[in-house]
Amino acid sequence: MRAHSAGEQIDRRTFLQATALPGLAACAWGCLSGSAIPLYALPTREDARFIVEAQFYDKQAYKKIKCKLCPRECVIDDRERGYCGVRENRGGTYYTLVHSRLAIAHIDPIEKKPFFHFCPGILAFSVATAGCNVNCKFCQNWEISQARPEQVRATYVSPRDLAAAAQQNHCPAIAHTYSEPVIFYEYLIDAAEAAHGVGIKSVVVTGGYIQKDPLKKMCRRVDAIKVDLKAFSQKYYKEIVNGDLKPVLDTLVTIRHEGTWLEIVYLVVPTLNDGDAEFQGLARWIKSELGTDVPVHFTRFYPQYLLKNLPPTPLETLERAKAIADNEGLHYVYIGNVPGHPGENTYCPQCRHLLIERLGFVVRKMDLHKGKCRYCQHPIAGVWQT
Ligand code: SF4
Repeated sequence: MRAHSAGEQIDRRTFLQATALPGLAACAWGCLSGSAIPLYALPTREDARFIVEAQFYDKQAYKKIKCKLCPRECVIDDRERGYCGVRENRGGTYYTLVHSRLAIAHIDPIEKKPFFHFCPGILAFSVATAGCNVNCKFCQNWEISQARPEQVRATYVSPRDLAAAAQQNHCPAIAHTYSEPVIFYEYLIDAAEAAHGVGIKSVVVTGGYIQKDPLKKMCRRVDAIKVDLKAFSQKYYKEIVNGDLKPVLDTLVTIRHEGTWLEIVYLVVPTLNDGDAEFQGLARWIKSELGTDVPVHFTRFYPQYLLKNLPPTPLETLERAKAIADNEGLHYVYIGNVPGHPGENTYCPQCRHLLIERLGFVVRKMDLHKGKCRYCQHPIAGVWQT
């Protein structure tokens, strides 16, 4: 598939034709490095179809509004935008500017999100708009996450067309990912509804920086959520993420209570969030607040964006984090971004047999039967197709 050049227009038929090319496979659209690459090179201009009233905000005096979508609770004057740059106050009514405004579309294995206990081996039609409500110094996708909608080439893809594109490309799931799905919340919710209408699942990859009411609604519309828990310290959240830890911990508890499938990724950044005490505290908190069945992925950091001065995470650090969490009693602790490491595999927590063997994003062996260990019948937490 070629990228459309700047100045070209793309319509619904073109989008569906483009995404229906035969032989389209995982990563065939250019995503080999782990970062998403914009699919359509189109200039974004004001288009009424992108602008939809926001779902969570309060009106205030003098045409001000208070956004109630994420914990920042931006108070915004008329004609101004919130911190995320994709929501605007127009005359006392608050709008999202990125409904159906896709900056990226890409086909990925679900393991790349990563989800290890959610329908292993399926492809996810992965999408994002511009914008984010935090500013992580290690962001892989900062070109779109830290951009305003007008700064990123995008195209109109309605929820119905998104579901159709996923179907045409044999993707059983749509993944809302890459930037921060919380800030394109209204699109995500509408897309999940359209997707369910045609039997397509929806998953969300998020930093979890969201208020409780919108989160609960999201939990009821989507099938799985992966939360990037960036650290287990408020200091890190303040200095490296420009956010707060407590709301993210609250998000994890809410997702668990709502019963939506949850996995956690912890990107281990050398010298910043890689201490034994932090790993220990994290593992104990997960065990007491979420239980032992939530998969936790300790993932290798590679230098990029504003943290190019740091080295990649040493393997022994990742192995130390996993050992601490294993010893604490968590059942499914993984090592990520180290293809071929045994820490990518799933073992039965009861009989210790190898059940799911992975190599990078490829599932090489599945020894589950109806969600249970084939050897000892122990139930394995997750959403399984076999
Ligand atoms: S979603 Fe955007 S506008 Fe709303 S509170 Fe968060 S950063 Fe502010």
